[in-house]
Amino acid sequence: MTLDETRLKTLTMKFGGTSLGTAEAIMQSAEIAKAARDHTADRIAVVASAIHGVTDGLHEATSAAAGGDERYLQVIAELRDVHRRCAEALLEQESRNAVAEIDQLLEGFSGFCESVRTLGEAGPRALDHAMSLGEKMSVILLAASMRQLGVAAIAVDASEVIVTDDRFQDAAPDLEATRQKATATLIPVLERGETPVITGFIGATREGVTTTLGRGGSDFSAGLIAACLDSDELWIWTDVDGVMTADPKVVDSARTIATLGYEEVRELSYFGAKVLHPKTIQSVFETEIPIRVKNTFDPSHPGTLIVPNPEESNGAIKAVTAVRNVSLITVEGKGMMGVPGIAARTFEAVASTGASVLLISQASSEQSITFAVPRTNASTAVEALESEFERVLSRGNIDRIWAQDDITIVTVVGSRMRETAGVAGRVFTATGLRGINVVAIAQGSSECSISLVVRDRDGDDAVRAIHELVIEG
Ligand code: ADP
Ligand code: ASP
Ligand code: MG
Repeated sequence: MTLDETRLKTLTMKFGGTSLGTAEAIMQSAEIAKAARDHTADRIAVVASAIHGVTDGLHEATSAAAGGDERYLQVIAELRDVHRRCAEALLEQESRNAVAEIDQLLEGFSGFCESVRTLGEAGPRALDHAMSLGEKMSVILLAASMRQLGVAAIAVDASEVIVTDDRFQDAAPDLEATRQKATATLIPVLERGETPVITGFIGATREGVTTTLGRGGSDFSAGLIAACLDSDELWIWTDVDGVMTADPKVVDSARTIATLGYEEVRELSYFGAKVLHPKTIQSVFETEIPIRVKNTFDPSHPGTLIVPNPEESNGAIKAVTAVRNVSLITVEGKGMMGVPGIAARTFEAVASTGASVLLISQASSEQSITFAVPRTNASTAVEALESEFERVLSRGNIDRIWAQDDITIVTVVGSRMRETAGVAGRVFTATGLRGINVVAIAQGSSECSISLVVRDRDGDDAVRAIHELVIEG
């Protein structure tokens, strides 16, 4: 099962929320971890997400409380039920202990929601406190399940391991400080022959305030832990057979890709392949740790192997992805050429709102700048631009700043695209034949991706049309 079939020294593995949705799934994950420890690696570190849907529930309860809505009590009751049901496969003592610990966390959360209700608001720091609870609860259940199988597992709170800045909801880790903490907290556990089961998604500032790494961030946590423990490999366990040629929920004929390069995966995940968080590659980049993405519910399937520079396989286009809920912002004006530094000012103004620019489109003329941002950031970005260019607008050098809101970005990825002529042509023929209007295009700077900007209503059709090219090879 390993790269060279020899026993690994250290293996880090991560189980996603979809691998922890039921008592059976948690037990299955525990069995996978045990098998890896028995047969594959001398030491394993396990990272776990919250049970599927729990992070959303915690967010929903906190927002309801902030809005003075008592519905938070019902959400908490549902969260308690979900975890109790997931504890059902545990034997007496483990089950009682796990349920008691989880109840205690939820009781604390209930008190927290009451305070939020009194205050009438919940900012990013409060949300991080709330949303970190999902992982704190899931690791209790997974560690208990592993102990039941005879593995000496202990639940570890990653706020003791991952050190971040204080950008709540999207905190950036401090690698050096994290390495030091990971060495101090996790190595002794591993050396005792125990298996740490670490909360994904969570970190803490130097002062010890809980932060989160952004939605879907457990993959990123796992990458950080793998790097800090000098793991030989990182295995990501999820609910599909690896990284596929398209999202199998959108394209029935999507197939597993056997091997991918770091760069390809970075583009794929950045442009919407939810199977791996975009920052995962960043975390293992220096250490060049190979990643395997595998299916918890079909562990014998080889899944996908991700390495820095794989041997090239046939086919220039390897996969197609989509990012939905995007807005396309255009700054437009016949007199724009005369205004110095306009592009720099545009992107600075947008950056100051905290919005990330997903892509910049090649403008057909120099009379406009067009770029995409997540839809939730669009109106603040437009306001920031209007204020930045207030005088330029009044002089008429810029005519209009506007956002088009019904946008999906569809991206084709493949490292061999850079040396293959005609890929863009094939993509446009495929979409054109289906009557799909391409609003804008952009090529990734790495040249291993091309993005098409289409209307939401055409998004799935465009993905399916382009996927036929992937299948053709
Ligand atoms: P986890 O809980 O394991 O982190 P996620 O829901 O975050 O799982 O990611 C897995 C999901 O990613 C799959 O169920 C699949 O629908 C979606 N997905 C999107 N694009 C791809 C792709 N190219 N390959 C595989 N899965 C993809
Ligand atoms: N539980 C977190 C989320 O739902 C992190 C993760 O699943 O990776 O976003
Ligand atoms: Mg995920």
